[in-house]
Amino acid sequence: MSTPEATQPSNFIRHIIDEDRLAGKNGGRVVTRFPPEPNGFLHIGHAKSICLNFGLALDYQGRCHLRFDDTNPCKEEVAYVESIQEDVRWLGFDWGIHRYYASDYFEQLYNFAVELIRRGKAYVCDLTPEEIRAYRGTLTEPGKGSPFRNRSMDENLDLFSRMRSGEFPDGSRVLRAKIDMDSGNLNMRDPVIYRILHATHHRTGDVWCIYPMYDFAHCLSDSIEGITHSICTLEFEDHRPLYDWILDELEVPCHPQQIEFARLNLTYTVMSKRKLLELVRDGHVAGWNDPRMPTISGFRRRGYTPESIRAFCERIGVAKRDSLVDVALLEFSIREDLNERAPRALAVLQPLKVVIENYPEGQVEEFDAPNHPGRPELGNRKVPFSRELYIERDDFMEEAPKKFFRLAPGREVRLRFAYFITCREAIKDANGEVVELRCAYDPETRGGSAPDGRKVKGTIHWVSASHAVKAEVRLYDRLFTVENPASEKDANFKDFINPESLTVLTACQVEPSLAQAAPGASYQFERLGYFCADHEESRPGRPVFNRTVTLRDTWAKVQEK
Ligand code: ATP
Ligand code: MG
Repeated sequence: MSTPEATQPSNFIRHIIDEDRLAGKNGGRVVTRFPPEPNGFLHIGHAKSICLNFGLALDYQGRCHLRFDDTNPCKEEVAYVESIQEDVRWLGFDWGIHRYYASDYFEQLYNFAVELIRRGKAYVCDLTPEEIRAYRGTLTEPGKGSPFRNRSMDENLDLFSRMRSGEFPDGSRVLRAKIDMDSGNLNMRDPVIYRILHATHHRTGDVWCIYPMYDFAHCLSDSIEGITHSICTLEFEDHRPLYDWILDELEVPCHPQQIEFARLNLTYTVMSKRKLLELVRDGHVAGWNDPRMPTISGFRRRGYTPESIRAFCERIGVAKRDSLVDVALLEFSIREDLNERAPRALAVLQPLKVVIENYPEGQVEEFDAPNHPGRPELGNRKVPFSRELYIERDDFMEEAPKKFFRLAPGREVRLRFAYFITCREAIKDANGEVVELRCAYDPETRGGSAPDGRKVKGTIHWVSASHAVKAEVRLYDRLFTVENPASEKDANFKDFINPESLTVLTACQVEPSLAQAAPGASYQFERLGYFCADHEESRPGRPVFNRTVTLRDTWAKVQEK
C-alpha cells in the first residue's frame, strides 16, 4: 500500500497556515487533530476531515492528533473507538504516540470550570432544560437572565462540587458560563458547560456523574494538546466566539485558531452518524460495514482502496461553502485506481450453457491470458477451454436486432482468448426458456482471429463448465433512490431506500484461478466491472465477490457536457 503524499493542492486553510508561519505564529509549528466522537463508525465525510488534518501535518512536518471526543457516555462505545483507529490507519495515516481522549482531561476540565466560577464567569443554574430554552430567547428576541445568575461564588463552588459528588439527580442542575443574555449569537447566551449524568463512561466508569459539554471540552482539549489550527466543519462557525471566549477567560497553555470548512455531502447518500445508526439498527443494511454504507469500513469491504478515497478527497478540495458532491466522482476515483491495479479475470454471473458440438469430448486446451492488458509485468495465467462452456445469459438473444453483436442463432462471435463460435441451435425447457446453446467452433480461429480475414464484431467472455468454480456475487446499487434523501421535505430519509440496492447471485461461474482469491483481493471481471473477494465470507473453493463498481463511467460523461 502506498502512503499519502506530502503535498496537497492549495486551499484557503493552507493560505492561513502559510501566513501564520510567515508571521512566526506558534513558532511556525503546525499541530492539527482529528476529533471523532466514538458514537459510530467513520464515514466518507470523516475521510475528508482525516485527509485534511493528517495531510496538513504531513505537509508542514507537524503532527496530527487522534482525539476521541468522548464526553457523552450514553452514546459511546469501545467498539467504535477500535473501528475508528482501524479506519484511520487503513486510510494510511499515523498518529504516532498522539492518541488522546477528552476523558483523560476530565479532572483538568473540572478545574477549569471551578476557575471560571472563581472568576465570576460561571454559575450553577437550577432551571429545567425547558426553562433554560425559554429564557434563552430567539434570534429576534433577547434572552432573559436566569434567577440563579447572581448566585455567590461560594454558593456556586459548593453546588458544583456537590454536583460532582453525585448529590443531585440528572437534569436538576447545570453549570453555565456567564456571558451575555442579549448577545445576537445564541451560543453566547449563558451556554451550559456541565451537566449531571449518572451514566457509566466506557473509560472512566462511574468516577464521574457530571460531564462537560462539547463546546467547553473541545477548545480546552485543543489548548491542553497544543493544537495550533483547530479545523472543524461549518456548523461550528457560530460557536467560534464561545471557543475564543472560554480560552480568553482562562489561563490556558495556548489559544488555537478555529477554522471552519464545508462538510462533504454525497448524492444518493446520507452522512450523519445518527441516520447511519438508524439504518443499522432497523436492519436496512447488514451492519456498519455493509458494502452499501458510506462508511469507511463499508467502502473497504466493497473493494475501495485507501488510495482511491484519498484521491477523491483531494479532487473535491476544501471550500468554505457547503455543496453536494456527485457520488459518480467517487466511483470515478475507484475505477481509475482499480483499472491500474486490478488483475483481469473471466467470470460469468448468469450462466448459460454452451456445447461446442464439433469440439472433441474430453479435450482440454489452455489459453494464455494476460493478467493486465497494460502491465505485462503482472504476467499471464492459463485459462482452460473445453467442449462445454458457460457464457453470460445476456450475451445470447434468440431474436436479435441487427445491432446486437453477440450470440444469436446463426451468428458468429469471438470467445475471448479462444475461438470463433457460431450458434447452431437454442435448446429450450418446457417453459420455453433457453437452457443451452449448441454451437460450432472454427479450429482455424485459435487465438481469436481468422486466417481468411473474416471479422466478427463481438467478443464475449466465458468459462469452461467443468473447470469453473461456483461463486456467489453480490451486486450493489445506490442505497437511495433520490439525490439528497436527507433534505426531501415532509419525508423520512428511509422512505427513499432503494429496494434493489442489493442483488445476490448464487450460481455464478468463475475461472479456476479465482477459487483461491484472497479476502479483499480485487479483480476486473472482463466486461462486467470491478469485484473484490468479500473479507468476511469468501472461502477458498467457495469465493464470494462484491461488486465494487461497474465499468461504466458516468462521471466522464458528466464532465463532457
Ligand atoms: P455526524 O454529523 O456524521 O454525526 P459529527 O460531526 O458529529 O458527524 P464527529 O465524530 O464529531 O462526527 O466528527 C469528527 C470530525 O469529522 C469533526 O471534526 C467533523 O467536523 C468532521 N466531519 C464529520 N462529518 C463530516 C463531513 N461530512 N465532512 C467533513 N468533515 C466531517
Ligand atoms: Mg460531532
